[in-house]
Amino acid sequence: MSYFLHNLRRVFRELQAQPFSQLPARLQAMAGPKLTKLAEEAAVRTGAGGMIGRRYRGAGIALMFHEVHGDVDAELRTGCDADQLERIIGAVKASGRDIVSMEEGLRRLNDPGSRPFALLTFDDAYLDNRENALPVLERYQAPMTLFVPTGMIDRSLYAWWLGLRELIKSSDTVEITAMGASFQTGDLASKAAAMRQVTAWIGTDQAKADALASDFARFGVSVPGLIDHYAMTAEDLKAFASHPLVTIGAHTKSHRFLSGLSESDVRGEFSSNKMFLEDLLQTAVETLAYPYGTEKACGAREAEIAAQTGFQASFTTRPGQLFAEHLATPQLMPRIDFGYAPQSVAACASRLSGLHRAMITRFGDPVATLH
Ligand SMILES: [Zn+2]
Repeated sequence: MSYFLHNLRRVFRELQAQPFSQLPARLQAMAGPKLTKLAEEAAVRTGAGGMIGRRYRGAGIALMFHEVHGDVDAELRTGCDADQLERIIGAVKASGRDIVSMEEGLRRLNDPGSRPFALLTFDDAYLDNRENALPVLERYQAPMTLFVPTGMIDRSLYAWWLGLRELIKSSDTVEITAMGASFQTGDLASKAAAMRQVTAWIGTDQAKADALASDFARFGVSVPGLIDHYAMTAEDLKAFASHPLVTIGAHTKSHRFLSGLSESDVRGEFSSNKMFLEDLLQTAVETLAYPYGTEKACGAREAEIAAQTGFQASFTTRPGQLFAEHLATPQLMPRIDFGYAPQSVAACASRLSGLHRAMITRFGDPVATLH
């Protein structure tokens, strides 16, 4: 290990005198997925991360969160808690970025002279955003955007991830019939691992997600019941949206993998969700987050339909910072996941500085759009 750190420091010193196109192959090799975490840790500790990330730092950054739990372990570490949110806000501010509203962020992207900024975005309309996140945001006067799928509010959403978590939480042996797999889930580590494995198996295949329904039924897991427990109602959302720190964005009607839908179905997903939110809240909904947001879940076709639906900007989950160049592709704005637990100081610093994208793209294009 010390040999590795020694070498990494030496490579970073070499780097200070070199343009990025001449990055040593050795360092590029270190950027492989298995070593990314280790290299991030070393780069942050040695202070080299900021220097490497400079080209990747951008004008702004959009941070993504989902649930903000009271007890992360009880929810199999699928979200973060209020303390972690507060630490991240502290790190954002320490990195020299102002936390601003969506409107102000998009304005600053268009103004080269403006200060660096960060957008806090939360997906899916979980009730804990009001209970656990909002008090922290109020303390720091930090604005947020909440991306809301219609189905979460009208209880029609097939939130398979909530069903799967409940199934794993409530049982010490879990059988996923369609996967042909069974998991021993007697403790937190094995429950969290099972959650990750089944989620990875589903990938972006809606049919696999749908197939979990038979297991939910067998174990008495009610997805609508879970939505009732975890998600905002229409009244909750109306009150939340009226808070001065809150902007509401779109997140489709049914939160399905868009790439598997027909063009007209994608169009319907966007327009009906936009109309639902605008009718309910009596305000314009001008931004969108694609469900899942990965390269396999959405792409150029969805971006074109989002523009035609009238969104000003739409967010993927391609990790990267926000650059003025994104004004040319406003329906493909990158966004970085900060809302998972546990999260090391190095992982957070690496994502804020731009180092993380440098690592996972092997020092490729800083401006994330389709990739
Ligand atoms: Zn979502």
